Amino acid sequence: MKHWTNTQLPLPALEATVCQRNLAFFEEQLEQAGAMLEHLPAAARSLVRSGSRLILDSLLPPRCLACNAIVDSTGSLCSTCFARFTFITPPSCTCCGIPLESPVIEDLVCGTCLRDRPAFEQARAAFIYDSHSRALVLKLKHADRTDAAVHLARWLHRAGAEQIARCDVLVPVPLHRWRFFLRTYNQAALLANALGRLADKPVVPDALQRTRSTPSQGRLDRTARRRNVARAFAAHRLSAIAGRRVLLIDDVLTTGATADACARALLNAGATAVDVLVLARVPSPGAMSA
Ligand SMILES: [Zn+2]
Ligand SMILES: [Zn+2]
Repeated sequence: MKHWTNTQLPLPALEATVCQRNLAFFEEQLEQAGAMLEHLPAAARSLVRSGSRLILDSLLPPRCLACNAIVDSTGSLCSTCFARFTFITPPSCTCCGIPLESPVIEDLVCGTCLRDRPAFEQARAAFIYDSHSRALVLKLKHADRTDAAVHLARWLHRAGAEQIARCDVLVPVPLHRWRFFLRTYNQAALLANALGRLADKPVVPDALQRTRSTPSQGRLDRTARRRNVARAFAAHRLSAIAGRRVLLIDDVLTTGATADACARALLNAGATAVDVLVLARVPSPGAMSA
């Protein structure tokens, strides 16, 4: 598929320099305009910034999703970032999707899932969450790069083809209200909406709610994370969930504790099964915090 290959030749040096100058000029103008927007409500600011970014993107050469280097097609990585990203390929755990070192490709289950099976059936991720991919994930989460969701949904579509095909509805992992208020958008909902349009699947953005704000998962291990998020989620819109197979969408999977708690809430609400699809997952629980 085109968006996975990244063999684009760089632009000629002169053209690239001119583009860089143009972009710097427009971005400077955007920044100045942004300062004038500070009196607007957060949601309006986010909307204006996203709109401005869309206009810029249509006028200027496309940029690498991770490092902003110029590339020749929208929504791709530059060759350097592409080489550094670790896209997840078999063999991996059939249940949680963690990459495994094994000559066998199919029907593998990792030791963690064997000992303590999660409430979800299968989790899949597009790439490993590490120091190289972190910038891309954080851009979607904190930098108002809401436009990136459309491109990232294509990666989700490829990584979770099987889970998407068998699901009835997509449900994003929710933010707590005050986090939503501060950030103005939920990155998981952006991904779910973009994926829903791409895969022609219904999205139920408010199927889950956080019933309490959980302290940062930080350096907590799997058991502590589970305790931290236990009963932190409740299902709503029961008629949209009951009797349906749900695909839960999030940006990062660390130990799976959040996904597990969400899956339990959805199953308690009558979902027939829950799978999980995320952009990135840590290679082993405890290796890195999201
Ligand atoms: Zn790059
Ligand atoms: Zn596993």
